[in-house]
Amino acid sequence: MKTDYEPVIGLEVHCQVRTRSKMFCGCRTGFGESPNALTCPVCLGHPGVLPVPNREAIVRTIQTGLLLGCQIDEYCKFDRKNYFYPDMPKNYQISQYDMPLCRGGGVTLDRFSFPKDAQDSPEASARKRVHLTRIHLEEDVAKSTHFDTTSGIDFNRAGTPLMEIVTEADIASPEEAFAFLTALRLILVQAGVSDADMEKGQLRCDCNVSVRPRGQKAFGTKCEIKNMNSISGVRRALAYEIARQIEVVSAGGRITQETRRWDDDIGQTSTMRSKEEAHDYRYFPDPDLMPIRTTDGLLEEARARLIELPGARADRYTRDLGVTEYDASVLASDPHLARFFEAAASGASNPKGIANFLLNDLLSALASSEKALSECPVQPADLRELVGLIDAGRINSKQAKEVFREMFETGAAPAAIVRAKGLEQVSDTGAIEALARQVIGAHPGPVQDVRDGKASALNFLTGQVMKLSKGKANPKLASEIIARMIKGDPLVR
Ligand code: ADP
Ligand code: MG
Ligand code: ZN
Repeated sequence: MKTDYEPVIGLEVHCQVRTRSKMFCGCRTGFGESPNALTCPVCLGHPGVLPVPNREAIVRTIQTGLLLGCQIDEYCKFDRKNYFYPDMPKNYQISQYDMPLCRGGGVTLDRFSFPKDAQDSPEASARKRVHLTRIHLEEDVAKSTHFDTTSGIDFNRAGTPLMEIVTEADIASPEEAFAFLTALRLILVQAGVSDADMEKGQLRCDCNVSVRPRGQKAFGTKCEIKNMNSISGVRRALAYEIARQIEVVSAGGRITQETRRWDDDIGQTSTMRSKEEAHDYRYFPDPDLMPIRTTDGLLEEARARLIELPGARADRYTRDLGVTEYDASVLASDPHLARFFEAAASGASNPKGIANFLLNDLLSALASSEKALSECPVQPADLRELVGLIDAGRINSKQAKEVFREMFETGAAPAAIVRAKGLEQVSDTGAIEALARQVIGAHPGPVQDVRDGKASALNFLTGQVMKLSKGKANPKLASEIIARMIKGDPLVR
């Protein structure tokens, strides 16, 4: 019998914390400057210099921890992680070992964080929580570039504050890894703790993956795919690596623990270095840095900056406002859009209709006029009023589009436009009955078809009434009146 294998995945995510200056010196953080322009003796790793911790980076890391439900201990400290690397001349990295800023916590995977082609899978609607082991704060290293015969090293990035977010080995597929990173990235960006721009290397990820016979408790031997810088790349790399490992163990082979690299062009992982034994980094507390007491105002400051998580916000929109799950996730994924929607929906009787109009008509009008939401000529209250006019049956949806166009061009209020254009929909039963009688008299064939139960004939007759009313009749009312007259009115027979 063939053994069925399942993957086990754990991620180590490195995320640049958004600060003006570096982690332990006053140098500006920046991207795209000329090499080594943003440096000083501290971030160049000269001997004898003294680090001074960046308070903002610590607060933002605690803020992230609070958002993700982590435990924040009263004390934490910085340690030296010793190794030889050309991108770190002082030969140690200031990091955190046994007393990190945050422990535990997790990220709940919502359906729309999954890749599009996997959103209908049971896995996507399971609302799984991926648990975190810890979040610690450290300094980034320099960036090496390898040319034909020489290598260059740029210290602009060296010393940039870096959060390392480590997950438990909780992730069960490449799609879940994709969803985790997507959801996490959205939270980091919305909270303002990081720009998490993957193209600028502000969010990078090491993927640890192993396979085991389905049902087995113990983990298999893992490989680590280093330095992934795109979320879709993570999915592809994991899919490849899982298949590779399953092939090896199915054939009776063994996985050797090693670090691998992913080549996105050829779609393969390959050995980078093998991990003989666990590294001994000889961690010890950095003697130049005092332990941090988080209760000294840091926690308070972080708490004051908490935001509603996008997932919680989307849930609130569906639960309390009746917005569809998809619309809610789109609205909640962009704080500006969410703010606009909430302003428009406030006190409205039909938030769902407002969400719809906002996501379809308003966004496409903005897109085609190349305007940002902040430049939107239509105010939230006006959008609410417009949807209110449709719901009250005072204008039909076709007229609403015309009114909206005018609102978008002139910024005028919808009621004023309706009045000025004489657009008001006719919902006066008497007026519509008169038109219906005229139409019924003129089209005996379709009238008979309606009696025979043909729905299309009723649509035809309704269309005729709409035409006579020059589009102003309330179509729903017109259709009801025609149906009623044909069925019950003796004058029609
Ligand atoms: P290392 O010491 O090699 O860095 P850690 O125990 O610190 O390993 O774990 C690093 C990451 O690897 C974590 O995200 C963890 O969940 C994950 N991990 C650990 N063991 C396994 C395994 N057997 N298979 C998959 N992922 C694993
Ligand atoms: Mg590791
Ligand atoms: Zn510096």
